[in-house]
Amino acid sequence: VPELPEVETIRRGLEGSVLLITIDGVRVHGRRSIRRQSPQAFIEACDGRTFTSALRRGKYLALCLDDGAFLVVHLAMSGQLLLIEDPLSPLVAHTHVVFSLGDGRELRFVDPRTFGELFVTTSLAGNGLPAALSALGPDPLIDDLSGALLHAMCSQKNTSLKALLLDQRAIAGIGSLYADEICFRAAVRPDRRTNTLNTKECEVLSGALYEVLGAALARGGSSLADEGYRDLFGQLGSYQGEHCVYGREAHGCRRCGTAIARVRVAGRSAHFCPSCQA
Ligand SMILES: [Zn+2]
Repeated sequence: VPELPEVETIRRGLEGSVLLITIDGVRVHGRRSIRRQSPQAFIEACDGRTFTSALRRGKYLALCLDDGAFLVVHLAMSGQLLLIEDPLSPLVAHTHVVFSLGDGRELRFVDPRTFGELFVTTSLAGNGLPAALSALGPDPLIDDLSGALLHAMCSQKNTSLKALLLDQRAIAGIGSLYADEICFRAAVRPDRRTNTLNTKECEVLSGALYEVLGAALARGGSSLADEGYRDLFGQLGSYQGEHCVYGREAHGCRRCGTAIARVRVAGRSAHFCPSCQA
């Protein structure tokens, strides 16, 4: 499931590859990926437009078009956005949307589980981003998620830390994988009640959040065994080799050797070291 490091890796790829490039034809296969407007309205809103900037908030990509509209892409569970050099290369299964680009390449949206979506919107919020994204909380790479801000969030909520980290209205971009890794780095259990975290622990949590997301971004994100995540150019990420807890149930903790435990938190699995995290 792509989270902030993976979506940001794709955003950087788009920024370096499609700006000032014009969309020269759009094909929509099936109806699952275009849900907020008709496929025809979507196609008409994109076709002939030029990409002017590639933004991201949380797990959403927002590609600005030259008429001021945004093409928003949410990869959700299994979406891939792939830049294809050879438009004659066969479409892989579950290719739902294809943008022909003016320079002969194609931008293809592939999504086996079809939870992802694309839409074009001209409705903007005060921050200049699509209004549809205005419910998202602060984004770690755009906003300063300081220890003080995290402490204020934690104090107001009586929930588990993992639930807070997963709440996109509180913090945008973190999913199950990086939530577990951040909790490990911060030496705090994912099922810890947020209102028991003190100022110092929230400072450490802020540092851990930036260290984990930064390290993952430097490695192009995480691709798990299903290889579901690939970047814009089809390359796998390599941060999976550095996971400390996620997917490592019963394996030895990299720091102390204790078996990594898995519990149910906020309706999701949470992995942690019972010795290193309190
Ligand atoms: Zn440990």
